Amino acid sequence: MKEIVLVKYGEMALKGQNKSSFEDILFKNIKFRLKSVGKFKYSSAQSTIYIEPDEETIDLDEVISKLQKVFGIAAICRACVCEKDFADIQAKTVEYLRETLEDAKSFKVEAKRADKKFPMKSPEICMELGGTICEAFPEIAVDVHHPEVTVIVEIRDTNAYVHAGRIKGAGGLPVGSSGKALLLLSGGIDSPVAGYMMAKRGVRVSAIHFVSPPYTSDRARIKVEQLCEKLTPYCGDIHFYCVPFTEIQEELKRRCPEEYFTILMRRLMMIIAQEIAKKEEALALITGESVGQVASQTMQAMVCTDAVCKVPVFRPLIGMDKTEIIEISRKIDTFDISVQPYEDCCTVFTPRHPKIRPQLEAVEKAQEKGDFDSMIAQAVQDTELKIFKNSET
Ligand code: ATP
Ligand code: MG
Repeated sequence: MKEIVLVKYGEMALKGQNKSSFEDILFKNIKFRLKSVGKFKYSSAQSTIYIEPDEETIDLDEVISKLQKVFGIAAICRACVCEKDFADIQAKTVEYLRETLEDAKSFKVEAKRADKKFPMKSPEICMELGGTICEAFPEIAVDVHHPEVTVIVEIRDTNAYVHAGRIKGAGGLPVGSSGKALLLLSGGIDSPVAGYMMAKRGVRVSAIHFVSPPYTSDRARIKVEQLCEKLTPYCGDIHFYCVPFTEIQEELKRRCPEEYFTILMRRLMMIIAQEIAKKEEALALITGESVGQVASQTMQAMVCTDAVCKVPVFRPLIGMDKTEIIEISRKIDTFDISVQPYEDCCTVFTPRHPKIRPQLEAVEKAQEKGDFDSMIAQAVQDTELKIFKNSET
């Protein structure tokens, strides 16, 4: 029996004139994602993409688990391909859904008749096929309100398809449909989640990470690279920029008032990140900040950081609680890496008494005490780029 995977678009189905470019990007992302699984025949019609395995060895469970990480997909169905002939639909339904229907107590049939020329109308299909199922599985009862199994028959252009319901997709918009942004990625719990959330809105994500050897170890950098890898199934390939930040932090420590270390460091990071964003053609920055989470994430502190930013700074976690953020980090499997105890360049230079509500003027004055310009240029120049491929196995 031939099986196929049907992919239903999400929100982008509503995007009017932009729809075809959204579709093209989603198509490309899906093909890219499934390249490592095997060969497929692709086609699309009526807000559905048809993915037909072209090799016998393909594992459809693997296909589905990969597709569940592709943004822009509302639902996925694993279906049996039938002739557009009711007798064939009856026979295949019984055979294809045997295991499911044998174990279930109740069911109903839903018919979707995209091809209006099909001789039977939807209610008739439901009734007749319901009868066939009751005959084949005498233990099962019809329950139109709360069925355990919903058998769905879709009559489409070239074929009919039978399946036992939709699997939820990742939702959102296809990555690449909303432009690119640069994620300030630390080793913590929050920033990988922030990257995931922007990717969900169709943003292509590049990442930037600041290291301060020898205060921070190689292990700390490797940890961040592992986080990048974990994000690739959702984000696609990620350009990862690693910035040497030691000199700047030493200058900070040497010349600037301690209580402003954190806020100044954040501003300097933003200045460098914008330089890299320009090279990367990224239109915005992304951080993992959430209001009030720590001393450096007060609104006053954000005012002081944003004062050096000429591009928008996206903070998708801004209104979220830590527990909500952790829930997502577990879902995307970054949590266990994030909690590994390797030092971050922020923690190494944490002041004993940070200014919790810094005033912009005072912060600017504090920054003037250091001589950062040439160091910033040097750091940008010495930044290393590594590309993380979508490498999930
Ligand atoms: P996270 O869990 O993302 O580390 P956090 O709650 O620990 O966040 P901070 O350490 O105050 O918060 O950092 C705030 C944001 O600044 C981070 O979410 C991240 O976007 C950015 N950031 C912090 N440290 C670095 C770093 N070493 N490299 C790149 N970005 C960083
Ligand atoms: Mg952190």
